Amino acid sequence: MIHFIYRITHQHYPNLNYIGSCKDLDRRRREHKSVCYNEKRIEYNYKLYLFIRNNEINFDTLEFKMLKKTKMNEPRRLEQWYINKHNSIENGLNTYNAHITLEQYKKCQKDYREANIEQLNEYNRKYREANIEQLKEYKKEYNKITWTCILCHTTTTKHCKSRHIKSMKHQKNIHQNL
Ligand SMILES: [Zn+2]
Repeated sequence: MIHFIYRITHQHYPNLNYIGSCKDLDRRRREHKSVCYNEKRIEYNYKLYLFIRNNEINFDTLEFKMLKKTKMNEPRRLEQWYINKHNSIENGLNTYNAHITLEQYKKCQKDYREANIEQLNEYNRKYREANIEQLKEYKKEYNKITWTCILCHTTTTKHCKSRHIKSMKHQKNIHQNL
C-alpha cells in the first residue's frame, strides 16, 4: 500500500502549514474541503479549518504539495518527521503529533475539548435544534424499552427506571444487600 505525506500551504499565509498523510491525494483534498464547510463534522473546529474560514481563504487557492511517497505500512513515523521538520504544530495548523502514544492522544483530545468547550457546546446545541423531532422520537422509543432491576427483580420501562430507583422497595433492597 502506497501512502503519501503531503503539506498544505498558502502563498500569502506563512502560518498556513499543515502536514498529513493519506492514500489518495485528490480524495483527501476533497475530504478536507468538505469537512471545512460542514459544521456537522466534529473536525469542523480543527485549527486548519478555523484558520481557513476565519481568514476567508478560498479553499481552492490552497497548495497541496506531495512531500513523500512511501511504501511503509505505518506512515505515521514519517509524517511525524515532516511535522517536526516544518514545525507545523507550534508554527502551523497541525493539532496533534502523528506519532504519539495512546495516552498522549487521549490527553490531546481532552485538552482540545477543554480549549474548545464553547464551540463544541454550540455545535451540540445546534445539532439538538436541527434534530429536535428525531431526538424526541428516539427518546419516546427509548422510554418503551423494558428494564429489569437486578435487586428487586422488578421489570419496568426505561421511562420509569429513575422512579423505581427512588422507590422505597428499591431503597430497602439496597440496604438489605449491603
Ligand atoms: Zn430495584
